[in-house]
Amino acid sequence: MNSFEVSTFLNQLYEDCMKEAKAPLDHITDWGNYRSEQLQKIRAYLQLARLREHYEHTPAYLKLSSFRQEDVEISMYQIDAISALPFPVYVLQHTNVQKERAVMILQGHDPRGAKGAFEPFSQKSLGMELAKRGYRVFVPELIGLGDAKMHHEDGDIGPCESCGEIEPRLLNCGLNLLGVRVWEAIKTIDFAMRQTGIRRITAYGMSGGGHVCNYVGVLDDRIDQVIISGYVNLYKYSTHDRTHCICNYVPGQLSAGESYAVTSLMAPEKKLFLMSGLQDTTFPAKGSREAFAYVEQVYGALQAKERFSTLLFEGGHEIRIDPVCQFLEENA
Ligand SMILES: [Zn+2]
Repeated sequence: MNSFEVSTFLNQLYEDCMKEAKAPLDHITDWGNYRSEQLQKIRAYLQLARLREHYEHTPAYLKLSSFRQEDVEISMYQIDAISALPFPVYVLQHTNVQKERAVMILQGHDPRGAKGAFEPFSQKSLGMELAKRGYRVFVPELIGLGDAKMHHEDGDIGPCESCGEIEPRLLNCGLNLLGVRVWEAIKTIDFAMRQTGIRRITAYGMSGGGHVCNYVGVLDDRIDQVIISGYVNLYKYSTHDRTHCICNYVPGQLSAGESYAVTSLMAPEKKLFLMSGLQDTTFPAKGSREAFAYVEQVYGALQAKERFSTLLFEGGHEIRIDPVCQFLEENA
């Protein structure tokens, strides 16, 4: 073996970060203080104060287009709420049935971007299914994904290639993709509330969208239900075991502990539903099981076990629509 191989050093760094981070289960008796201390740490590495201070913009919403598909009105809005960073949000609304709940869908690295939530490869898409059931659905196009990429003369580039292009430029300026995406998700909730007057919002995130959802779910108390698919795991078995898209890596992220330590901060108030495929190789089942069991212990210790549920299904790194619909129907 090459004597200058660096994995030992990287593993040591990971272990040191874990030793320094405070584990949720060690802080059940002072949960309130622990939670606010962790949130402060998270806001700091997401650079939310800096984003607010320099790039907050008086919100303006402009409807750009609208069309109807199977009794669902699909409208595209331009959200001007961040200086120099207008972004689109798609709104799906049934023309007759409308429930008093909105669902924000955070897409991952779907090559179609936000449109993937309602333009299915086959017959079904999550956004359309939820809209047909009467939920008001909001799908933001997060920075780096879909149409929100840097300009290319030669046409489109893939999502991870786009993240690889934008992230280094943000890092050089002390920002990161995750922080900007979380802020865009928060701005989407502002818009959803202004638009519909709805006070109950479910956040759903898949894969890279699950990463954003893991954070916005704990940071924004207007969200009372969180559904994360194909993400909650351990960095140890996923992003630190093999190289994932650059947007998974955030300076200082491990100071809050393993990824389930962030997820645990949903407890005890928020209803949380975690799912993952048993054959998912991106976020392997071993890590999902360990992470789900840990978060379940936290909910249990905080007397909120009934607000926590999980599903490990036969399948890979994929969206499952029926369990999401079932969870929403059972937790109206
Ligand atoms: Zn990415």
